[in-house]
Amino acid sequence: MASTSASTVRQVKLERESELRIEVGNDSPLRLRLLNGTAEIFGTELPPQIWLSFPPRLKFAVFTWYGATIEMDGSTETDYTADETPMISYVNVNAILDGRRNRAKASSSSDASNSSLQAPRVIVVGPTDSGKSTLSRMLLSWAAKQGWKPTFVDLDIGQGSITIPGCIAATPIEMPIDPVEGIPLEMPLVYFYGHTTPSNNVELYKVLVKELSQMLERQFAGNAEARAAGMVINTMGWIEGVGYELLLHAIDTFDANIILVLGQIFSKIPFQEKLCSMLRDVLRKKPNVDVVKLQRSGGVVSRNAKFRQKARSSRIREYFYGLANDLSPHSNIANFSDLSVYRIGGGPQAPRSALPIGAEPAADPTRLVPVNINQDLLHLVLAVSFAKEPDQIISSNVAGFIYITDIDVQRKKITYLAPSAGELPSKYLILGTLTWLET
Ligand code: ADP
Repeated sequence: MASTSASTVRQVKLERESELRIEVGNDSPLRLRLLNGTAEIFGTELPPQIWLSFPPRLKFAVFTWYGATIEMDGSTETDYTADETPMISYVNVNAILDGRRNRAKASSSSDASNSSLQAPRVIVVGPTDSGKSTLSRMLLSWAAKQGWKPTFVDLDIGQGSITIPGCIAATPIEMPIDPVEGIPLEMPLVYFYGHTTPSNNVELYKVLVKELSQMLERQFAGNAEARAAGMVINTMGWIEGVGYELLLHAIDTFDANIILVLGQIFSKIPFQEKLCSMLRDVLRKKPNVDVVKLQRSGGVVSRNAKFRQKARSSRIREYFYGLANDLSPHSNIANFSDLSVYRIGGGPQAPRSALPIGAEPAADPTRLVPVNINQDLLHLVLAVSFAKEPDQIISSNVAGFIYITDIDVQRKKITYLAPSAGELPSKYLILGTLTWLET
């Protein structure tokens, strides 16, 4: 089935409702174009005849509803066609969302609160590598193609697709998502958590989810179009214990009314069944919430811890240097006294549920702690807060990120990489445990 192919130009004919699954080779990009017919990559239609270049290691599928011929040039790790896909069930979900958007739009002028109830707020849940991000992306791109501007919310601090790891973020999707470039990085709403796993500070994670949701509610209040288009919320692959608690928290906080549960085919425990029935149980009191079980695509590729770590690192690199090394970040020098660095909470926290009954966690997990600038900051990625005063830091979103490349304790100078030259939008910086080694 899988083939390691030579690097020659070749054509693949796809029958209707089938897909070509590709893992680009490790060393060089793959060029691909649609020769005839129609095809899409995760919900975004391919332009006819135009060569597109896909970076090394990218994993994706070219799907066709009615048949297509694809031409490829370059080497792949694997490429094969599959005619069994869950695409019909996914596009049926989209049709339901479209209906709800239309109803929400129709009633938005007369009754705003009612329309918020009807607008689809979809949350995609399931274990890691079940295809959550991919399904979110398809639903968003299909909606954008139909003229909606749905809001994408990404709560995945490990492998998010809006900004760098360690953040939760939201952004309106106004056009089908580019299969190569991904989600445009212009002005997303970003909150910095600072760690790539929620167990570092569960309370802080919840506080930031709440802040993000309140900010979106404020935006929806003044924007009927965005409100009616609703949200697609991607979550972390952590679905047990505290992970499950955080899922319920997100469902509740964003008032999600459609929960899409993706399954894991090779799992020993039937996660999907268990998760679905747990969610249905808890949500019995909320009759307007639908829990929908969906099949995971056989094309979803499992990624190991090392791959994930690499992916995190390249997301940070992409932030500073661009996907194709097309950005030039600026190295800046500041005095220690020009900057105020804070961290939130007192290090890793035991969740309340893990403590003996009645015991309180030792330190307040959302306490703001000033940090002395010293060598420990080297190679950390810090967020630049929009806060005007320190006490606004937790509730503020962030403007962007800097990367510390040198600390001169004697001269009290700090050297950092920023996307551009000039003064930072604020002197308040937030530190977590997010590191990066520039390679
Ligand atoms: P999750 O968000 O649940 O961790 P993803 O949606 O990120 O999972 O999918 C994991 C990987 O599989 C991604 O690299 C994605 O591009 C790839 N993938 C998903 N669906 C397909 C498919 N049908 N064919 C080929 N690769 C796919």
